[in-house]
Amino acid sequence: MLVRLADETDLAGFRREARALLARGVPPSEVHWSAGAGDEDLFAEASGPAATGSAGDGTIRVPADFLELCHVVVLHREPQRLALLYRLLWRLVHEPGLRHDPLDADMLLARQMAQAVRRDMHKMHAFARFRQVQDGEDANDPLHVAWFEPDHRIVEANAPWFRRRFANMRWAILTPERCVEWDRRELHFRGGASRGDAPPADAGEQLWLTYYRSIFNPARLKLQTMQKEMPRKYWHNLPEAQLIAPLAAQSRERSGRMIEQAPSAPLRRLPRPVRELPAIAAPEALPFLHEQVQRCRECPLAEHATQSVPGEGPLRPALMFVGEQPGDQEDLRGRPFVGPAGQLLERALAQLGVDRGSVYITNAVRHFKFELRGRRRIHKTPTQQEAAACSHWLEEEIALVQPRAIVALGATAARSLLGRTLAVMSERGEWFERPDGLRVLVTLHPSALLRMEPRQLPEAFDAFVRDLALACRPSSP
Ligand code: SF4
Repeated sequence: MLVRLADETDLAGFRREARALLARGVPPSEVHWSAGAGDEDLFAEASGPAATGSAGDGTIRVPADFLELCHVVVLHREPQRLALLYRLLWRLVHEPGLRHDPLDADMLLARQMAQAVRRDMHKMHAFARFRQVQDGEDANDPLHVAWFEPDHRIVEANAPWFRRRFANMRWAILTPERCVEWDRRELHFRGGASRGDAPPADAGEQLWLTYYRSIFNPARLKLQTMQKEMPRKYWHNLPEAQLIAPLAAQSRERSGRMIEQAPSAPLRRLPRPVRELPAIAAPEALPFLHEQVQRCRECPLAEHATQSVPGEGPLRPALMFVGEQPGDQEDLRGRPFVGPAGQLLERALAQLGVDRGSVYITNAVRHFKFELRGRRRIHKTPTQQEAAACSHWLEEEIALVQPRAIVALGATAARSLLGRTLAVMSERGEWFERPDGLRVLVTLHPSALLRMEPRQLPEAFDAFVRDLALACRPSSP
C-alpha cells in the first residue's frame, strides 16, 4: 500500500495516515511511504483509502516522548524514517513491553536519528553567520543574510529559534533546499538558493574577527575537540575559520608568555557550610545527610537543577553502585537511575540474578548538570571542580552506608572514588583499593552504551554484564 504525504516533513499527514492504517490493521511490512511529487504515479493504482487521507477514528495511546521523537525524526533525511516511525507505532500498540526496553534496535535507531537532527539544529544555531545587505532605502535597516547547508530538513523547525533570537532585525537564511526570511512580522518560506545568492564578507566581519582574536586563549587550545565541535564542513561559512591555523601556530609561544606572567588572584570559592552530623545511627543519619545535601550550594549546579538526588538502597549492602550525576528524569523524580541508563543497569543486574533493591545506588555528583536546547535539557559532564566539591557528600554517604564493595560506573565516579583519573575503557573490570581498604570495581556508565551504534550494543551490553558479574558473584569482596 502506497501512502503519500504532502511533503517530506508532513508530520500531521503522517499521524493522520498512520492512525488510519492502524485502525485498519495494516502491518508495517505492507506500507510504502513517500512524500511530495516523485515516483508515486507508478504506484498510484495501488494506493488504498489511507493514501487518500481518510482517517480512522480509533484512539491510539502512545507515550508522550514517542510523539516528541516523531516530531524530530521526521526531519531526518533518511528515506526509511517514516517506515521506521510507523513500525515503532505499530509495535508500541502491539508490544506493550517495548516502551520499557532500552535496548530495542528500532527505538535506538530512532533516538540516534533524533540526536543527529538535534545536533544539526544546534550546529545551525552556532554556525549561521549573518552578513548585511542593503536591500532598501533605509541604510539603518539592512537585511541580514546567512548561508547554511544543513544535513537534514530542519529549516522550518529551526526558524522559530532564530525569530526569537533576532526578533528585532530583518534576516534571511538561505539553504540549498529551503530558505526562510523574517520581516519582523512573520516568517516567509520559499525554495532553495545557491551559495552565490549569499552576500560576500562585509565590514562587520572585521570587527568579529578582531573580537575572536582577542578572546582566543592559546593555553586552552584543543584542536581535536575544536574540530569535533566545529567540524571542517562548516568552516567555509565561518569567517573566523581563517584565523584558526595562524592562532594555533602561535599558541605555544603565547602560552609560554602567559605562564611567565605574574599569577592573577584566584576565584573566590564558596565556603563549605558549617554542619555536623549528629551522633545518631545510620538509618536516621542518612536522611539527615540527604537533607543537608538538598541545601548545598558549594558549586553552581544546584542553581538550575530541580533538586539534589540522594542515593537509595539498604544499609551495609554487598554492593554500592556510584554513577556520575542524576539525569533529566532523575532530577524530576528525585531518585537515582530511573531513566534509560537506570533501566539498562537494572536489566544487567536482573541478568545476574541481582535485585535492584538489594544494592545501594547513588551518584558522585548530586545535582543535574545540563544545557538547554529548546525545551530539552541536555546532559553535560560535571567538571573536575564540581565533582571534587561534591565528593565529601559521597564519602559521608559511604561511611554511613558501609558497603562491602563499590562499583564505579564511568570516569567521573571512578575519579571521585579513587582520587585519580582512570582510562575506563582499558581499566574496566579491574579492582582498585582505596586508602580506607574499600575495593572499587570500575566499568562503563550504562549511558555510554546508549550512545553506541545499535549493532555494537548487544556485544557492549554483554561486556558490561561480564564486568558487573565480577562484583556480583558470591566470592567478590
Ligand atoms: S552538585 Fe554537589 S557540591 Fe554542587 S551544589 Fe550540588 S550537592 Fe553541592
